[in-house]
Amino acid sequence: MSDETLRQDGAGETDGLDRLWTPHRMAYIRGENKPADTSSGACPFCRVPGLDDQEGLVVRRGELAYAVLNLYPYAPGHLMVCPYRHLADYTETTSAEAEEIAALTKQAMTTLRAVSAPDGFNLGMNQGMVAGAGISAHLHQHVVPRWAGDQNFMPIIGRTKTLPELLTQTRALLAAAWVEVS
Ligand SMILES: [Zn+2]
Repeated sequence: MSDETLRQDGAGETDGLDRLWTPHRMAYIRGENKPADTSSGACPFCRVPGLDDQEGLVVRRGELAYAVLNLYPYAPGHLMVCPYRHLADYTETTSAEAEEIAALTKQAMTTLRAVSAPDGFNLGMNQGMVAGAGISAHLHQHVVPRWAGDQNFMPIIGRTKTLPELLTQTRALLAAAWVEVS
């Protein structure tokens, strides 16, 4: 493909699973963003806020936490909400951090409902490798929109885009439509 040289940066967790949502494979086959160790220096969730929004797929920046598109989405619009601080466990968050993670999660749901009308969501944090966290050193809450049958969606964007374009456009769409709720 002509855009084979594009490289999508960002944060997320590879899991070795194949997705039915095939555009995603473009980035999947390219990306190995798994950190080498658990230090902040190797952590994509620490690195991404230093990139510009488009490059890092950052959708929304709060004071203490931010929302970012998952580079390896389970569904179109799969976001993660993370504190800026490199901390592993939910109990390590300050009240202010936990509040902002909650607020951004609500805003992400509201925004996704406005943009792509999902029928439901999976929300959650995997705590520890054993619980399925791919990047266990930096807390992140998944916000995964779900549709009945989980058919491919976001027709607004078009179905034949390669993933790098799709993720970039998804990011721009969600950032522009972001709904401020507390
Ligand atoms: Zn980190």
